[in-house]
Amino acid sequence: METFTKDASSGAAGLRKEVLNPGLCTVCGACVGYCPYIKTFGEQVAIIHDCKVCDGVCYRLCPRSFTDYEMLRHSVFEDADFDPVLGTHTSLYFARAKEAEIRSRGQYGGVVTALALFAMQQGLIDCALVAGGVPSGAQPFLCSSSEHILESAGSKYTAVPTLSLFQEAVRNDFQRIGVVGRPCQVTACRKMQQEKEINGQRLALVIGLFCFWSLSAGVYSFLKEKGLGNCSRMDIPKDGVDFRQENGEQIKIPLEEIRPYIKDTCLACYDPLSELADVSVGSTEQYPGWNTLVVRTQKGKQLVEAASAVGVIELQTYPLERLPLLRQAVFQKKQRVLKRPDRSYIGLPAGEKDIFVEGGEEQ
Ligand SMILES: Cc1cc2nc3c(=O)[nH]c(=O)nc-3n(C[C@H](O)[C@H](O)[C@H](O)COP(=O)(O)OP(=O)(O)OC[C@H]3O[C@@H](n4cnc5c(N)ncnc54)[C@H](O)[C@@H]3O)c2cc1C
Ligand code: SF4
Ligand code: SF4
Repeated sequence: METFTKDASSGAAGLRKEVLNPGLCTVCGACVGYCPYIKTFGEQVAIIHDCKVCDGVCYRLCPRSFTDYEMLRHSVFEDADFDPVLGTHTSLYFARAKEAEIRSRGQYGGVVTALALFAMQQGLIDCALVAGGVPSGAQPFLCSSSEHILESAGSKYTAVPTLSLFQEAVRNDFQRIGVVGRPCQVTACRKMQQEKEINGQRLALVIGLFCFWSLSAGVYSFLKEKGLGNCSRMDIPKDGVDFRQENGEQIKIPLEEIRPYIKDTCLACYDPLSELADVSVGSTEQYPGWNTLVVRTQKGKQLVEAASAVGVIELQTYPLERLPLLRQAVFQKKQRVLKRPDRSYIGLPAGEKDIFVEGGEEQ
């Protein structure tokens, strides 16, 4: 494995030096919920009191502290076959929720919402941490009922610190906590599962999203300056960014105008497909009412098969002609990231970096 020298302090001081000061925080929320001295201010995370603990949990949970991917992958998948581009998976589908209401509220096919609802109905989870509210006012939500999960459907393209509510779920005695998260949050979840001190073993299901970047909240001020109203729904198709205003009017903004609001940390993000999740869900980039669904763990497989068997979701064979496009997008992202100087948090097994940086058929 590649190793990097890290700061002697791997507590709050290390978090400040290696993650917060260089602007690498992904606003996942993991450290915020755990430590009363770490707070969010809008989309900024700050340590409000100096803490002398040298080997802090806050540091170990962070998806931007040194991340031993080989260890985390083994903790999730044991010895299952590993695909360095797409991550470990048992199957790929196009999928959508069967229920029309879920589809109409969902971002694309509503698969995330349908699976989270089904997991709760089946007792696999007793609560779910999600990102609720409208895109311009997105907030973390702790859902203990199906209604709350349904209300939180839809993508918010800013970084919502969902994991800040994990400890609240623990305090409220939830035993089987489900999380819907961006890939950086999924990595934090798997680090949390290593930590008995924070009851990480209560994480019962991790539904990961595809995510190539997120936006800073400044994008909404930019929209206001353009004279646009509050955004009630947002999508990022290939040709620009679609904003639906609260009055129902839809506006397309060229991607180039939005690009300055992409968060810097996303440019250093090695995992666009939530490789450590039980299942990962993204768009199809072809059919707006459908999702791409990547099934990864045995738990994810059982959930998807059961949901399909009772008609909660509909599955279609993933079209093989789409696979090179998906692989190429991920390959190129990983390649760009591994060439950056701020990639030092990424600990990969021997040879993995060479697949992307030294060449390979998928360039
Ligand atoms: C910041 C971001 C970037 C993304 N980029 C891509 C991409 O490049 N390519 C791609 O194919 N897909 C991307 N996605 C995923 C895509 O937007 C959909 O979330 C995914 O396809 C699931 O669709 P669905 O219809 O099943 O979602 P739904 O059923 O509507 O469920 C969406 C779930 O995501 C949760 N959620 C919404 N916003 C956030 C957030 N900011 N952080 C954490 N959880 C959130 C909601 O609470 C809800 O549970 C991105 C998502 C986000 C949040
Ligand atoms: S744990 Fe999450 S919120 Fe805390 S510093 Fe790291 S990335 Fe930011
Ligand atoms: S690109 Fe990476 S760091 Fe940025 S929000 Fe998505 S998963 Fe998190």
